[in-house]
Amino acid sequence: MPIYEFRCRRCGHRFEKLCAVGESGEAQECPSCRAVGAERLLSSFAALGGSRDNGGSTASSGCSGCAGKSCATCR
Ligand SMILES: [Zn+2]
Repeated sequence: MPIYEFRCRRCGHRFEKLCAVGESGEAQECPSCRAVGAERLLSSFAALGGSRDNGGSTASSGCSGCAGKSCATCR
């Protein structure tokens, strides 16, 4: 079962809970103020998939010693 993140509509407390797929936060009880009726937030792991920065590969135009892949280090 996936972990969903909820936010209490009353006190704003954020908490995570395991629950069935598609279950809304309406029945979730806030662990902080015990209010029922939380708002379900987008799961954090779903957000991770789209925002992965691609900083691992540098520009493929030679090395720091040349600019055109023509020195001994590049070959
Ligand atoms: Zn609360």
